[in-house]
Amino acid sequence: MLQKEIINELVKIMGKENVITGREDLLCYSYDATPDVPDPLPDVVVTPVNTGQVSQLVQIARQYKVPLYPRGSGTNLSGGTVPLKGGIVLSLLKMAEIMEVDAENLTATVQPGVIIQDLNNAVAPHGLLYPPDPGTVATATMGGSVAECSGGLRGLKYGVTKHYVMGLEVVLADGQVARFGGKTVKNVTALDMVKLFTGSEGTLGIITEIIVRLIPAPEARKTMFATFTNLSDAGNAVISIVKNKVIPATLEIMDQVTIKTVENFSQIGLPTEARAILLIEVDGIPEVVEQEADTVLQVIQNNNGRVQMARDEQERDNLWAARRAALPALAQVKPTTVLEDATVPRSKITEMLLALEEIAEKYNLQIGTFGHAGDGNLHPTILTDERDKEEMERVHAAVKEIFEKALALGGTLSGEHGIGMAKSSFLEWELGAGGVGVLHKIKNALDPEGILNPGKMGFNGGTGHE
Ligand SMILES: Cc1cc2nc3c(=O)[nH]c(=O)nc-3n(C[C@H](O)[C@H](O)[C@H](O)COP(=O)(O)OP(=O)(O)OC[C@H]3O[C@@H](n4cnc5c(N)ncnc54)[C@H](O)[C@@H]3O)c2cc1C
Repeated sequence: MLQKEIINELVKIMGKENVITGREDLLCYSYDATPDVPDPLPDVVVTPVNTGQVSQLVQIARQYKVPLYPRGSGTNLSGGTVPLKGGIVLSLLKMAEIMEVDAENLTATVQPGVIIQDLNNAVAPHGLLYPPDPGTVATATMGGSVAECSGGLRGLKYGVTKHYVMGLEVVLADGQVARFGGKTVKNVTALDMVKLFTGSEGTLGIITEIIVRLIPAPEARKTMFATFTNLSDAGNAVISIVKNKVIPATLEIMDQVTIKTVENFSQIGLPTEARAILLIEVDGIPEVVEQEADTVLQVIQNNNGRVQMARDEQERDNLWAARRAALPALAQVKPTTVLEDATVPRSKITEMLLALEEIAEKYNLQIGTFGHAGDGNLHPTILTDERDKEEMERVHAAVKEIFEKALALGGTLSGEHGIGMAKSSFLEWELGAGGVGVLHKIKNALDPEGILNPGKMGFNGGTGHE
């Protein structure tokens, strides 16, 4: 329990309406979208409305050594917002202003609580686009996606969040407000702190303002849907499309478990007999789009796939709705959905797909795999029940083996979902003791008391004031 004195100070800074202490309300902030991690109650939730309040709040947390957990919409999949050691959840949802769309410099300046789709709706009338689009684009915040360095469906051609963040305002662990980067295309002033804070998962500072790069929206696009009776053919087609010098905006895969589940969930006519489908979208200048679509068609046929073009926007929207339904549909099958994020170089995608099938068989688990195949970023999703202790042991062993395999293929623990609590115990496998040591030095320099998001990314600091 937090001392009454601390709550009183919070109310003094933010007003009663921005300080939540009711048990039922606190429950909503004890978990995020991650299964199989603890869900302790925070002591209090605060909803500041400006940077000044965030700064004062951080100073109080520091003074009383109370842990502080920044939170956007809580959709992350690595336990990033779980208030592991109790303390203060800092919801940024009330700082949700699109401060500027600068069509001359092709930038936008936003507060962290802005929903990603709202930014895109605001820039679309200018003929502009903010490309990073996680599956949760309609609910996730800009702050949360910068702190996770989220990817999404357009990652292959357009990159991920870090490729668009140009400037940040950050409240540091001592309450100071720092600004890094800005609107200039070029900026090599000192260390690249924008990159450091992007993907820092709330462990180094609170992001209170973001400048992002926008791009001209593509003039034309063509969406296709390819069906395969063999998983290897689908994997090989992915590799071959890029080898043939076509970089689709989107190149997504769904395996048979996922296809059947999505079809069952949304009945849009997916071919449930297929072993895998690819969803492909090429975009850009109309003539180039035509040319690229032809090449993709050829490559699919050479790899024994059957292609269907989306005939109109409605068909395109249906295909993307099917893809976005993959996780919600899989999540309906069993009470617990363990979604992984292992990522390999694209050339190893077929090997990884086959390995996932073997792992499912070896541990007698139901695994549906979908994801951003063009990025080598797969989401093997284990359908299970966390009340079944014996099955959960098999799940944990399978997850370990998935990471081992991804790393052995030259891949990484996380392509886009971050480390949070869920993957911190594997960090040393990828970074070695030396690499992990560097992370700790940076953390200790910026947050010596360990008040910011303790228990995440392997930083166990935090004072656990309990
Ligand atoms: C169905 C589904 C589909 C998804 N699809 C994708 C996908 O395609 N690609 C992808 O990358 N992710 C995906 N995700 C994961 C998730 O949606 C993203 O990580 C998202 O960007 C998180 O945004 P959020 O606002 O929910 O952040 P939260 O979950 O609230 O927070 C995420 C992290 O950021 C920190 N944080 C939040 N705000 C701030 C701030 N202002 N300052 C400092 N730290 C902060 C938190 O402490 C936490 O560590 C998916 C999740 C679900 C449930």
